[in-house]
Amino acid sequence: MPSVSVGNVKLGRGESIKIQSMTTSNTRDVEATVNQIIRLADAGCDIARVTVQGKKEAEACEEIKNLLVQKGYNIPIVADIHFYPPAALMVADFVDKIRINPGNYIDRRATFKSIDYDDATYLRELKKIEEGFLPLVEKCKKRGIAMRIGTNHGSLSDRIMSRYGDTPFGMVESALEFARVCEKYDYHNLVFSMKSSNPIVMIEAYRLLASKIGDKYPLHLGVTEAGEGEDGRVKSSIGIGTLLLEGLGDTIRFSLTEDPWFEIDPCRRLVEFVNRTKRRPRGERISRNVRFPKGVSDGIVIFDQKDLHPDMVVFSDLDHAIELLPEIDAPVILRKHYDVSPEDLVIHASCELGSILADGLAEGIWIEGDYDQKLLHDLSHSIMQAVRKKSIKTEFIACPGCGRTLFNLQEVTKRIKSKTGHLPNVKIAIMGCIVNGPGEMADANFGYVGSQSGKIDLYVGKQCVERNIDEKDADEKLIDLIKAQGMWSDPS
Ligand code: SF4
Repeated sequence: MPSVSVGNVKLGRGESIKIQSMTTSNTRDVEATVNQIIRLADAGCDIARVTVQGKKEAEACEEIKNLLVQKGYNIPIVADIHFYPPAALMVADFVDKIRINPGNYIDRRATFKSIDYDDATYLRELKKIEEGFLPLVEKCKKRGIAMRIGTNHGSLSDRIMSRYGDTPFGMVESALEFARVCEKYDYHNLVFSMKSSNPIVMIEAYRLLASKIGDKYPLHLGVTEAGEGEDGRVKSSIGIGTLLLEGLGDTIRFSLTEDPWFEIDPCRRLVEFVNRTKRRPRGERISRNVRFPKGVSDGIVIFDQKDLHPDMVVFSDLDHAIELLPEIDAPVILRKHYDVSPEDLVIHASCELGSILADGLAEGIWIEGDYDQKLLHDLSHSIMQAVRKKSIKTEFIACPGCGRTLFNLQEVTKRIKSKTGHLPNVKIAIMGCIVNGPGEMADANFGYVGSQSGKIDLYVGKQCVERNIDEKDADEKLIDLIKAQGMWSDPS
């Protein structure tokens, strides 16, 4: 793999894994954005991304870049583009890398209608992509800057979804449509990403991409809308860690609903852990034919010897899990003793146990060590829920926020979690804006989405059912919707 330069940072062959984050300030607020980037750089962030919605934000990027240089910061800046190619063309004059979303750079927001594309229509659409995308390719090539073709599971185009479905295959094809244009015009300074809020989908999409492009281009790894706190760290460590352990991935981001500099520490802990852990062969998700003893269901969490059933197999040789576990036809419990800090425990256990669970190779976990029992309890259940083995609480898909965010995301996420966090099998998406469309909310049952400043849209599935309601009324209306769908239970 040739390395790709993003400003003064190299990604790819022989390079260390680089850490990224994204500002949450309004990009037009140059001072606030510069301050966030400085704080990120000081925390150890290698590359910073800012959202660029339009021409004003593109102009601000020039000032941001200049001010950073004046202050002695050379951290590379990436412009995040959705829907508006003119902003990409402007900002490509100042930044070190452009991120485009292939689901919306040329295509409009998906309608989720299944459209029948015959081959001729499909080819015409590809031609339209080439024409619309080429000016940016030429500009990036001329300036020698990098581009990330960053697919999001939730914002695939109608064309891709109609032909390939809302699948990892569709995610990969969405990126390759754009990559083919780059290669045709001899532009290769590319990085790819395949993000989803579901770590299992994300892992599969990256593996599929790697099987198609080999190690030709660096990969940027991330679980999108992972949420905040422990859940966000667990989901990100499982998705990103699984791939890093297989030798896939050159740069990473934890998308947490927290101030951006809090993303750096868990990234660093994960990279350090992976760097000293034996690499695994490339895995794949399998279905094992496991017979469960009577009374034992999937998703087993063991806290004590007495929780064990004699027909379960306790397995602690994690290095050989991929080879040995497919052959075992009894429920497997992964047992591991840790003696690291609580912060490292969250990252290490999620990465090495979660990666095996995510591939369907085990049914339960048993985490041991000298820790607070509540920490072990919550972490074990968060890992099992993140790999879809168990649902004991509401799953939140919360965006990390960026310059487009229309309400106080961190405060609102905490508040909604405190009111609705006790509902197994319910997924709630909390999104700062609707830029990527309702698809970005993945398979959430309910969506709470910023529509304009102080105003919220509420969704049931992908259907908007309440528009522009006041933020002060939105929590109660959301709870009413959950009740109306028969998915509410009072907290115990
Ligand atoms: S959904 Fe969140 S992170 Fe994505 S563009 Fe909107 S505010 Fe930014």
